[in-house]
Amino acid sequence: MRETTPAQSPPDDRSVHGSDEEADVIVVGAGPAGSSAAFHLAKAGIDVLLLEKAHFPREKVCGDGLTPRAVHQLIRMGIDIKAPGWTPSRGMRWVAGEHQVHIDWPALGRYPDFGLSRSRHDFDDILARHAVAAGARLRNGVKVTQPVTDRAGRITGVTATAGAKEPMVFHAPIVIAADGASARLALAMGLQRDRSRQIATAARRYYRSPERSQEEYLELWADLRFPGSDHYLPGYGWIFPMGDGRVNVGLGALPHRRHGIADLRTTLDQWLARTPHAWGLHEENAEGPVRSAALPLGFNRHPLYTRGLLLVGDSGGMISPWNGEGIGQAMEAGEVAAESAALALALPRGPRRERVLHSYPVEMNRRWGRYYRLGNAAADIVFSRSGFQPILNRYVMGSPFLLNALARMLTNLTDKPSHDVVDHVLNTVVRLVPAPHVRRR
Ligand SMILES: Cc1cc2nc3c(=O)[nH]c(=O)nc-3n(C[C@H](O)[C@H](O)[C@H](O)COP(=O)(O)OP(=O)(O)OC[C@H]3O[C@@H](n4cnc5c(N)ncnc54)[C@H](O)[C@@H]3O)c2cc1C
Repeated sequence: MRETTPAQSPPDDRSVHGSDEEADVIVVGAGPAGSSAAFHLAKAGIDVLLLEKAHFPREKVCGDGLTPRAVHQLIRMGIDIKAPGWTPSRGMRWVAGEHQVHIDWPALGRYPDFGLSRSRHDFDDILARHAVAAGARLRNGVKVTQPVTDRAGRITGVTATAGAKEPMVFHAPIVIAADGASARLALAMGLQRDRSRQIATAARRYYRSPERSQEEYLELWADLRFPGSDHYLPGYGWIFPMGDGRVNVGLGALPHRRHGIADLRTTLDQWLARTPHAWGLHEENAEGPVRSAALPLGFNRHPLYTRGLLLVGDSGGMISPWNGEGIGQAMEAGEVAAESAALALALPRGPRRERVLHSYPVEMNRRWGRYYRLGNAAADIVFSRSGFQPILNRYVMGSPFLLNALARMLTNLTDKPSHDVVDHVLNTVVRLVPAPHVRRR
């Protein structure tokens, strides 16, 4: 990672007109990362301002699938996941060639044994409302344009626009960037992404499919190929039941080591043509267009804290390189960032407060540093050449133990300390990976 000084000089507070507002912490972006950070801050009694450019409910391109790790975060926030609209899943069904296997979510001490799906149209709205109910001040339709910094380059607030209104300035000693994959705030503070890391892309579309909509398993296809060729796609396809007569169908892929980026739209068409007609995954049942977006993986932006700014979720490149999952990760990082910011605010401005804020990347590295490092290596060496097909071979598909271990490795679901032999093996493998160095500035 290279850190530079901001490309444009930030505006001086006093030169910006309009109504100024203050808070203890500003959170930019009310996706899962921002709303959970704002919720946990508000719960800790912190005055938090959550700035979101969109108006809820709004669409977000996503697969809408939540593993038990993400469900765990929802439970920690006290979200009512028994309410109508949440569709539970028992596990994953992997399809590879002629074979398919069902893998139930593991029964662990720390995580629930079920997953969920819910469209992001509702999900993000629910989370943002929950943050507001806890005391966060949400401003919708407010687009953050620039950081405001002091002479030392430390962030002291942000400028924003809201429709035709005068530009606004918001001030806070701590700012959390949760503005998603575009990471505009991080970039404006000079935090470039690590270009040695690959960025995956994913595309999805909704289909009306009463036949598949009530499925108990999240379905994943490992044997997709580049259009018109024999090369396996370095990714997988999914069919996630939405419980409302629809399914979320999509695919995500890394750039192939030799063949580059696949045309996702054509790959999707080619794949869906293989699915049984009764599933209804054809044009006349489609709702809306195919939409795609980037997946920043494996901690691809560093440092996660600098000069008053903490990066959470996609803005910090936190999507798992193992499976492309990022909602639970965004929520977990939001909670950790909130805890660091709340602890820091209990101390006077100065070196002791700074030390607490620097503990955020250290904690994130402790949680996922080794696991992501191994995942980045697996993505480079295996997934980006031949996707999941080589590891979902006949031996693995025929062994409940190996399947269970693989599923838990892909979704980062183990108990710590280890409870069973799979935990023991996976935790040991991850522990053997050298911890990445936490860069500090
Ligand atoms: C096709 C696809 C499928 C996926 N499927 C899954 C899945 O099934 N399960 C899973 O766990 N993950 C999935 N992911 C990843 C997941 O969507 C992201 O990791 C997750 O949304 C990250 O949350 P976030 O809060 O960091 O960012 P976002 O969800 O992107 O939220 C960022 C928020 O910031 C707001 N914002 C942006 N700029 C500004 C600004 N300047 N001012 C104010 N507000 C701003 C945006 O409007 C948005 O509300 C998928 C991703 C894609 C692209």
